[in-house]
Amino acid sequence: MNWLIFTDLDGTLLNHDNYKSDAAHAMIDELKARDIPIVFVTSKTRAEVEKLQAELAIFDPFIVENGAAIFIPEGYRDFDLNALPLRDGYRVLELGTPYAEIRAFLEQMQPRYSVRGFGDMSEHEVAALIDLPHHRARDAMAREYTEPFVIHDATHEPAIHAEVGGSTFSVTRGGRFHHLMGEAQDKGRAVETLIEIFRNNGYAARTVSLGDSRNDIPMFEVTDVAILIPKLDGSYEPIELPNLIKARAPGARGWAAALREVIGESED
Ligand SMILES: [Mg+2]
Repeated sequence: MNWLIFTDLDGTLLNHDNYKSDAAHAMIDELKARDIPIVFVTSKTRAEVEKLQAELAIFDPFIVENGAAIFIPEGYRDFDLNALPLRDGYRVLELGTPYAEIRAFLEQMQPRYSVRGFGDMSEHEVAALIDLPHHRARDAMAREYTEPFVIHDATHEPAIHAEVGGSTFSVTRGGRFHHLMGEAQDKGRAVETLIEIFRNNGYAARTVSLGDSRNDIPMFEVTDVAILIPKLDGSYEPIELPNLIKARAPGARGWAAALREVIGESED
């Protein structure tokens, strides 16, 4: 049987506390040996994903900034993607809104609410918030479609959500930040679209998704099996879905063990 894996990164394949994925490396090697695609579906930017892909030697398509865009390496599995624009060696499908429009909407809210986005922060500030070195902060700030932000006064949260709800934008919650984005995008729509692209190119597969946060729900809803990774303290985001399985350990360790249970050993 063919499999197609979609995975969130922070708090899922990467441990929440140290961003490491070592406990999943043996499983990743096995998936590669079985030629099973591992598609990253993340709120991270393209710059961040490209570095992580290089570190893990994973060169499958990926989905950035909470479903804003799908990047498929040119020539990937001989897929016929000539209808999609070619940019920097990828066929690109965009569902998101340009970053300048996202920023403009955040900025018009700022006189009324205490919100700050990455675009308001220095590299130093972002590095401290995400607990990573400066060069990593730079990659995280290379936004193309979405803006991570913090709400300094939690009592403003409902009003912010209401205001965004009445606009052409939407807001979702990842592990560390809220994310402002175009309303036509979410992880689910992007994953659904990419499953279709695989299928249209002769790769029909059972699909699995893995995630740990609310912004993973739309992705969970469009794959055959969904795996919810627990937080560091062992608790789970309150999500109930008929296809949902709960991993027993947080981060990379839970990722590998749960995937092993779902897709089993190689049949050939
Ligand atoms: Mg996450």
